[in-house]
Amino acid sequence: MFHVEHLWTGAIVFVEVVMADTAIVTKQQVQIKTLLSARAMPLGIAEQDIDEWIESRKLDELTFNGAYDLINYLTVLPVSRTQSQAHLPLTASSILTNKKRGTCELCNQDVPAGLGLYVFNGVWQTYHNSEDCSAVTEVYELVWNSAVIVHDLDVFISLLPRMPKTVPTDPELLELSRAEDAELPFDLALPLLPYQRAGVKYALKARRVLLCDSMGLGKSCQAIAIAYDTAMRKERTLIVVPPHLLPQWEKECKRFAPTLKVITLRGRKRHAIRKSDVVLIGDSVINHWAIQLAGMFNTLIVDEAHSIKNEQSQRTRGVQYVANSIPEKGIVCLMSGTLTPNRPSEFLSALRIIGRLNPVFGNRRHFLHRYCDYQTVNGFPVISGAINTTELNTILRSTCMVRRNKDDVLKDLPLKRRAQVDIELSDADMRVYRKAEEDFLTWVFNTYGEQAWRNASKAEVLTRMNKLREILGIAKIKAVADHAKSLLAEDEQVVIFAYHRKVIEGLKELLKDYGVVVVAGGVTPEKKQENVDRFMSGEAKVFIGQYLSAGTGLNLTCANHVILAETAWSPAHGQQAEDRCHRYGTTKPTVAWWITATDTNAPTIDMRMWTVLNHKAEVTSATLDGWAESLNADASSMSALLLKEMLDDFK
Ligand SMILES: [Zn+2]
Repeated sequence: MFHVEHLWTGAIVFVEVVMADTAIVTKQQVQIKTLLSARAMPLGIAEQDIDEWIESRKLDELTFNGAYDLINYLTVLPVSRTQSQAHLPLTASSILTNKKRGTCELCNQDVPAGLGLYVFNGVWQTYHNSEDCSAVTEVYELVWNSAVIVHDLDVFISLLPRMPKTVPTDPELLELSRAEDAELPFDLALPLLPYQRAGVKYALKARRVLLCDSMGLGKSCQAIAIAYDTAMRKERTLIVVPPHLLPQWEKECKRFAPTLKVITLRGRKRHAIRKSDVVLIGDSVINHWAIQLAGMFNTLIVDEAHSIKNEQSQRTRGVQYVANSIPEKGIVCLMSGTLTPNRPSEFLSALRIIGRLNPVFGNRRHFLHRYCDYQTVNGFPVISGAINTTELNTILRSTCMVRRNKDDVLKDLPLKRRAQVDIELSDADMRVYRKAEEDFLTWVFNTYGEQAWRNASKAEVLTRMNKLREILGIAKIKAVADHAKSLLAEDEQVVIFAYHRKVIEGLKELLKDYGVVVVAGGVTPEKKQENVDRFMSGEAKVFIGQYLSAGTGLNLTCANHVILAETAWSPAHGQQAEDRCHRYGTTKPTVAWWITATDTNAPTIDMRMWTVLNHKAEVTSATLDGWAESLNADASSMSALLLKEMLDDFK
């Protein structure tokens, strides 16, 4: 159930809703109902019939703005009055117990605090309760001309903006969803690729959109282009992302649209929000902020939208709440690489959030029967089927979906792409890491002094430094597995590289359902080949290799995705790992995902390594020309460089 709190503001009673475990109830719906209940008698309706009244006027179809206009209108309608209040003006629109002593408007006598009435009648006025007032000799009859009020109200309601009842399929959108290129009136600081421009154009035209390009095609830069377009119109964008990707998004915004003012909301505790073009927030706290955020934005973007496929979850309801407040002309864009018409039931939540389930498909029931092969088995509904998928695909593309895979846009893509994924560690993990880092630097400084970095290649130093990398590697396991699962959900095979036994074991455990083969130290050449064969035949979907044992010689070209779970310790390690999938004769682009543990307070060893490995060339997620040059840091000096930097910061 929801919790309603009345806040006295002096003019209007605001109703605050704390979101609950039941169906979505918007603040506006609760407010409308509360106001109608208080005005039931003047409107000539019994209080128990309020729900029916709301339904008959289809108030749930009102847009956010329409609902607010109605609330303002209802606020000034006359309210129901008890017998003791009956002498008050018929136009009274609020009656409350007075909080301060005052003077009665009828008899000019004192009204003690708490004993009189405070009546909103265009202005606030104090009155006695009838039995205490010398001016009230008889209680007036309650005379209401409800027919006139209701007629005026109905005319007002009929003019309010409503959600569209139906959204027709649009041949132009269908064409645009397959376009290889399109023109935009603007570009970003790092130019968009042709198919990305087409995607942005689609979103700007459709206004409600599911951006379903497969992973690695650059969905986020298209989203940033949408935010940029919004900012050019002096309007604001809210971007909801999984919390561990917040630093990634901050960085991408800076890279693609450095002029955008971006702020990030962290934590559950609400506070005032500074002026900005873009607000970033983690999807784990969106339900705590939803009420404050609703109505502030013209554009809503949701990353990794498959995480809100559970229609009952707090985060889904929080996102839905904000989505409802986006004006008709604004944009709601859900991004996911795993939504495909081959799994129709996964679209239900997404379509509902962007307001296209009922307007496009009639209703949920029809969708389930037509596309999900709805059945009941032993009395339980089964909705995991897929039928009429071509039809579904066409309807979605003609109304609200863009989905390209790598083959569609092959010629636009560089054959090798490297994407860095920033992972924000939990506070607890970060504390463990910082403590270990401090211990290490204290030890190395006490042992070798100012010039300690000259001893970086000593076995003892390397071993201790390695320990720091292991801590980060272990802390990243869950995020790496999640990233791999997103790719696996797209029917991709995935190669993962790591150094440490504990990291490899952890990943193997989390991904075991997909079939995992491991090539690490101690595996015989025969076993190694057997594992490669199992992966190449598709029997195992995941290949986990240790850089040193699996980094060279193996051919894993059936996979297009390599995840570097632990940051490569030398440029050669990184390139060798990436080249397991990208080899001579490969025609498909390979995406290498470098997973970096980040901290906004101070660089981690991961962040330092990434910087060193890329100090010659800026690597972007959109283009990767000359990417091999970016790997020309000298391997032998890597540990010395890192140690020098760390010591400089430490002192
Ligand atoms: Zn009086």
